[in-house]
Amino acid sequence: MHRLLRTVIALIITASGVASAQSLPPKLVAPGVWFLEGDAHAGYCNSILIEMDTYLVLVDPSYPGRTRELMDEIPKLSPKPVKYVFDTHAHGDHAYGNALWTKAGATTLAYVGVRNEMLRYEPQRWQAAMEKREDVRALHEPAVQPPMQVFKGRKFVLRDSHREVDFLHLGWGHTQGDGYVWLPKEKILCTGDAAVNGPRNKLWDANVANWPKVLGKAAALGPKIVLPGHGAAGGVEIVTGQATFLRDLYAAVKAQINLPLNQLKVTLPQRDANWTRPDMSQHIGIIYAEIKSGKPAGSLPHAWQ
Ligand SMILES: [Zn+2]
Repeated sequence: MHRLLRTVIALIITASGVASAQSLPPKLVAPGVWFLEGDAHAGYCNSILIEMDTYLVLVDPSYPGRTRELMDEIPKLSPKPVKYVFDTHAHGDHAYGNALWTKAGATTLAYVGVRNEMLRYEPQRWQAAMEKREDVRALHEPAVQPPMQVFKGRKFVLRDSHREVDFLHLGWGHTQGDGYVWLPKEKILCTGDAAVNGPRNKLWDANVANWPKVLGKAAALGPKIVLPGHGAAGGVEIVTGQATFLRDLYAAVKAQINLPLNQLKVTLPQRDANWTRPDMSQHIGIIYAEIKSGKPAGSLPHAWQ
């Protein structure tokens, strides 16, 4: 009965999305840099707060429910205003809080690919999220608000007397809009969902063949601290392990590409355990389609499930 009750409560929380979020307390990972781990049960991503001389930069606003939590939390960490809010990519669990931040006076910022992905996939995904999530519904907005400012090319830099923050696009991995945040002095890398810590990958919008190569570029920066889009913080092993998992999975599917999809059997090595789900069929199907078509999975017609 106890267990049943817990399950029912968990289901209610998941369904409402904001009923009782239990995001973790902020962790100071370097002077003026906080890792803000969102409540996975509410669907929230991780966020990062970076303190500049006169203002704050927030990486990933997450869903509106998490944005409201962050708006309570951040003034306890620093009295400076949030000037920039960076979307690492277009997915709802990272970017759907945008409108609340611009209303509060911040400038939302992203690689141009984020705006392009929103043009490609929205407002259908926003409408689907409204069906499921009270925090999205409560905004009474017809669509996600795209980033106000975008950068093209590889890099956009914010710099002041104490800190440099590099916003990087290294290529198409998790999505075509993937942006990384790199603090070169502190050697801190924020990866969004290009690297996650745990079995939390989403492959629908990806270029799976290219993704590990992009992660290779990220690892080559030499990060000492890696702050992923989901899961706990760590070191460069989050980036290299994520790349190895994707490479192993891709190779395993490719080795059996002449079989019908339902006959594929994939067993991954132990080194991939952190990213391996009990049921890998969705990942396998996406990679199978990518290899068969010769085109990135994210360029094929697909739905967000
Ligand atoms: Zn994502």
